Amino acid sequence: MAYDQNNIFAKILRGEIPCEKVFENEHVFAFNDISRKAPVHILIIPKGPYVSSADFYEKASADEIVALNRAIGEIAKEKGIVESGYRVISNHAAHAHQEVPHYHVHLLGGADLGVCFN
Ligand code: 5GP
Repeated sequence: MAYDQNNIFAKILRGEIPCEKVFENEHVFAFNDISRKAPVHILIIPKGPYVSSADFYEKASADEIVALNRAIGEIAKEKGIVESGYRVISNHAAHAHQEVPHYHVHLLGGADLGVCFN
């Protein structure tokens, strides 16, 4: 699947759509999800044009991969949810109902999130 330069997160990265930014560095951008499923619900995305999890981990540089994964921990720490706990989710393609075709990680916390699998 080719990267769509007009997907919502590409527009957010270009500043064409507003967002509540929570983090940014050379490779990573993060902002609050518009439809929060928990008190903390942040979307963490690479700045590069990757469609999905599979695309990112196949094509991104080691620096980009480290930056994105390290950002998860930094943001969780900043939000004060390391001790209480958090969940990291990334939906890839149809069976996972990925809606936006720009790779993103959901960081959820700030309350008991319930059991994920049972
Ligand atoms: P997915 O199902 O692709 O893993 O999740 C996409 C997420 O993007 C959803 O949780 C949805 O609420 C969020 N989202 C969709 N459009 C926007 C938007 O314009 N701004 C923000 N901040 N989040 C969005």
